[in-house]
Amino acid sequence: MKKIVFSAMRPTGKLHLGHLVGALNNWLELQNKYDCIFGIVDWHALMGEYEQSKEIQGNILEMAIDWIACGIDPAKSIVFVQSHVPEHLELQMIFSCMTPLGWLERNPTYKEQLREIKKRDLQTYGFLGYPVLQAADIMLYKANAVPIGEDQLPHIELTREIIRRFNHIYKTKFFDDCDAILTETPRLLGLDGRKMSKSYDNAINLSDSEETIKKKIKSMFTDPKRIRLADPGHPKKCNVYSYYDVFAPEKTGEVHEWCTKAQKGCTDCKMLLANILIDYLAPIRQKRFELEKDKDRIRDILDDGRKKAQKIAKKTIAEIKEVIF
Ligand code: SF4
Repeated sequence: MKKIVFSAMRPTGKLHLGHLVGALNNWLELQNKYDCIFGIVDWHALMGEYEQSKEIQGNILEMAIDWIACGIDPAKSIVFVQSHVPEHLELQMIFSCMTPLGWLERNPTYKEQLREIKKRDLQTYGFLGYPVLQAADIMLYKANAVPIGEDQLPHIELTREIIRRFNHIYKTKFFDDCDAILTETPRLLGLDGRKMSKSYDNAINLSDSEETIKKKIKSMFTDPKRIRLADPGHPKKCNVYSYYDVFAPEKTGEVHEWCTKAQKGCTDCKMLLANILIDYLAPIRQKRFELEKDKDRIRDILDDGRKKAQKIAKKTIAEIKEVIF
């Protein structure tokens, strides 16, 4: 029996390079080893973006297109939309009843988001409880593992605490423990050197045109000490160089030499990078272009995913009710 792996993304906007190297490339490997369930978690999107709710529907379709264009294979994995399977909310309700408020209030990610995000009011009942919905997302499919980065470890820990509490209260071994698959992902910052994010408008999107990619790369921050062509640069302090590290590691030696010996200027260095990225993204863009013309196919894929996901979800909920009532 293959292990079940659950992972998800919130449809809050266009997918960018950070999503590709931080999650999707890893999902491609996972889908060959495990029974993967990939959710487009629109209820989670609504929790944070309830005032821009009209955009979520469009984002769902775009996200599915991006995933499939990147190589997520609906024949190998279940690809579905969270709100199409109402059992997610049913299990969230059950878990809510037994999750102590203190666990949620102490959640470091919750506290950090409240501190960092000032434009939206996140002091809501729903947002406080988002780890409970996450636990429901994972355990509805009795997932054995969730791929996460080290910074997301507190999330999975809360899920584990909730299922241990469930097992303890109902004197059952219904839920097995759920592991983290710790994934090392390359560090890829946004164009301005901050975390790559839609909110900072500093991302290269998977759907960007060649012209947009060139324009964005031209605007990237470089080594601030390299002002003139004759000034030797410090590649390790340059964000452009870190992109070479991720997308063209075979070029880093050459770029390092140009930079430190002031043999080439930053504009040339950036244009070469832009062309590397354009080539890297070309197959994804081509596949995207084809999928965009056939949105009914995407809807069919999501509907097929819903059927498969709901079959498992209904069974789990029926079993849980047996345990509780
Ligand atoms: Fe960065 Fe390239 Fe300029 Fe060096 S030459 S500072 S690596 S952009």
